[in-house]
This record gives sequence, structure tokens and C-alpha cells, in this order.
Amino acid sequence: MPPTFAQLGVPESICRALKRNGIHKPFEIQAAVIADAMEGRDICGRAPTGSGKTLAFGIPLIANVGQARPRRPRALILSPTRELADQIASELRSISGPITVEAVYGGVGYANQRKKLQRGVDILVACPGRLEDLIDQRAVSLHEVDQVVIDEADRMADMGFLPAVRRILGQTASQRQTVMFSATLDRDVAKLTRDYQHRPITHEVGDATPDIKAADHRFWTVDKTERVGVCIDAVTASGPTIVFCRTRHGSDRLARQFTQRGVKAAAIHGGHAQNRRTRTLKEFIDGRVEALIATDVAARGIHVDSVACVIHFDPPEDHKAYLHRSGRTARAGQTGLVVSLVQNGQHADAKKIQQKLGLHEPITSPRRLEHSAAPARRRNPAQHRQKWRKPRSRASSR
Ligand code: ADP
Ligand code: MG
Repeated sequence: MPPTFAQLGVPESICRALKRNGIHKPFEIQAAVIADAMEGRDICGRAPTGSGKTLAFGIPLIANVGQARPRRPRALILSPTRELADQIASELRSISGPITVEAVYGGVGYANQRKKLQRGVDILVACPGRLEDLIDQRAVSLHEVDQVVIDEADRMADMGFLPAVRRILGQTASQRQTVMFSATLDRDVAKLTRDYQHRPITHEVGDATPDIKAADHRFWTVDKTERVGVCIDAVTASGPTIVFCRTRHGSDRLARQFTQRGVKAAAIHGGHAQNRRTRTLKEFIDGRVEALIATDVAARGIHVDSVACVIHFDPPEDHKAYLHRSGRTARAGQTGLVVSLVQNGQHADAKKIQQKLGLHEPITSPRRLEHSAAPARRRNPAQHRQKWRKPRSRASSR
């Protein structure tokens, strides 16, 4: 029997908030991490996407965080992308009670973020670039941060953020708890651990490569001319879909083609302003957009449940990109479909990817898909927010 949240030492108020959100039992990584993290140990964690890492680090933060003074947050969560920062903040807010959680990232104005910091933010979720800007402007100081989480450390490394992460860690309290999560624990991540963690406990859950077998993988040969039609059929049969394109231009064009044929689609890529990207993602989560047409960069860290289907419209660069894109579906125990569109001249590359990942599906002509009921929509954390906000005086017991 896995332990309950209460048995892991999670305070009653948080257990109740979790229940209200439909979360009754800890996932494996949570059962492994929460008790150690609550005790203040440094943790180095590895677990596949969709395994519940956010609450694994988030619950102990909410349970232990001190109360912030203006511009001096007490806990810091570093995220490689803006979308992920937003998602972490709203997931934690849905159980944080009186504890304040705010996200800061680039691509949007400073004024609002400065105002929030001035009011006092207990748990700050931040992307490294904007955080350093805000530090330079003296809008925030990290000297009282004694709990740090580095989420998706490997992606942070891929995106070139490690020098910033190091500078940021250098400004936090020297007596601090440092928790790190990463899909891989080698290379640069190992260096971070060595330099910034103190006797970390390592918790690893699942295989070192994500469990892509949870999804149903199909490889279809298509002509350039049939690609859009095949894609639309798959979206119509499957439900909420993320379609991956190689370029910004290509994703804009495909979104237009979808829309012309009556499928509600929107492109999401680095060429769009941040508020537009946030809006698009929200429309997808709410179901107003059926197909999200994304470039690889924009898709990093998009964690949306109930993505029924992932389509590789343009082939992924390599097997890692295939894994990463495909990991957007079949999350948190749900099923999902992954379709690769393979054009003339792309067969050898597709085979190579299959071989690297141990996938043995034949490359066939497009098959008719069973019409599946779209999986249940993600519950909206906003609905659960702030229901039991109490006056901040409760902080005296923290
Ligand atoms: P990861 O960061 O490991 O990719 P997330 O933390 O984003 O995964 O969690 C994936 C989804 O699973 C989220 O929607 C989250 O709300 C849900 N979830 C997390 N823990 C539990 C749990 N114990 N029971 C049910 N759902 C959970
Ligand atoms: Mg995560």
C-alpha cells in the first residue's frame, strides 16, 4: 500500500485542498520525495513527464515556506519556460491557502511583477532571464530565499540557462534547501548537484528514458499533398491534438489551413508575444482550440493533460526530439496516440528513430482511426483557487 499524503507528513490543510482538487493518493515520485523534502533535505529527482513532480516539490514548499517581506521571497522555483512557470504557479496556488505564489518571466511588462514583489511573494516561480533583470532593478532580492527548486534542470541546460542559474543560486541564502528535478541526471546536471547541493538524496522513478510505450505510435507514409487532410482526420477522430512543425512560418500556415477547413487551430511559437502564447495555451486547455500547432521551442514545458494525440507533421530532429514531443500525450496514466507523417525520402530517418527507441511499428499508409471520445478535460485549477484563503495572521504558526 502506498502511503497517504497525511502519512508522509503533509499538513491537514494541504491534504484537504488536494482532495478538493481530486488528488487523493500520492504518485510514486511524490511518495518517494515528500517526506525527505519536508525534513529539509536536498533532493535530486528524476522521473518521467507526467509523473507529478510539481506537487512532489510543491507540497513541501507550501508546508514549510516562511513568510515573505516586501521584495524578499522565501522560496524560489526556477523554470526554463514561461508556460511552465505559469503552470507551476497555478497548480501550487490551487493548494496554497494563504501562502502567496507568483510567477515572473519575460515577454510581458515589468510593472505588474514589480507590484506583486513589492506586496510580498512567499513562493516565487521564475524564469532565469527575467529574474536577473528584476534583481538588477532591485525589484527583488534573493537573500532570504532558503528553499530553492530547479525544475527541468536538463532543459535549463539545453537552453543555455545554467550560467544564469548559477549566478542566481549564488545570491540565495547559503543555508538553504536545494531540490532539483531533471529528466536526466548526467553531465551538466551532475555538475549542478556537485556544486550546489549538500548531501542530496537521489530519487529516481521509472526508466531513464520516458515511458513512451504508454502511447500508441503510428507511422504513416503520406504525400506532401495529403498531409494536411490526414492530419485533420486524425484531429477529428482523436480530440485535443498538438501538431509539431519545424518552423514558425510552417506552423502559422498549417493553423490557417486547419481553420479554413473548419478545425479550430492556433499556432504557438517563439515569434508570438508572451501574452498571445499564454492566451493560446489557455484556449487549448479550455477546449476552444482543438489543435495546437507548435514548434519545438514553444512546446518545451507545455504540460497539459488530456492531450489525446501528438502529430509529427514535420519529422523530429532526432529520437530525443521524438520523445520530447510525444511525451505531451499519454500523461498521468492516460492513453494517447502519436502519429508520424513520413514523406518520401524520410523513411530512413524514421526507421533510425524507431530503432533508437525500440519501436517496431510498421510504416503504413494512413489508417482510419476509431472515433474516440476525447478524454476528460483538465480540471481548471482556477476554480479551486483561494476558496479557503484565511487572513495572513495564520503565518504566525509557520
Ligand atoms: P511532471 O512535472 O512530472 O511532468 P506534473 O507535475 O505536471 O508532472 O503532473 C502531471 C499531472 O498529474 C498534473 O495535471 C497533476 O495535477 C496531476 N497529478 C499530480 N499528482 C497527482 C496525484 N497524486 N493524483 C492525481 N493526479 C495527480
Ligand atoms: Mg514538471
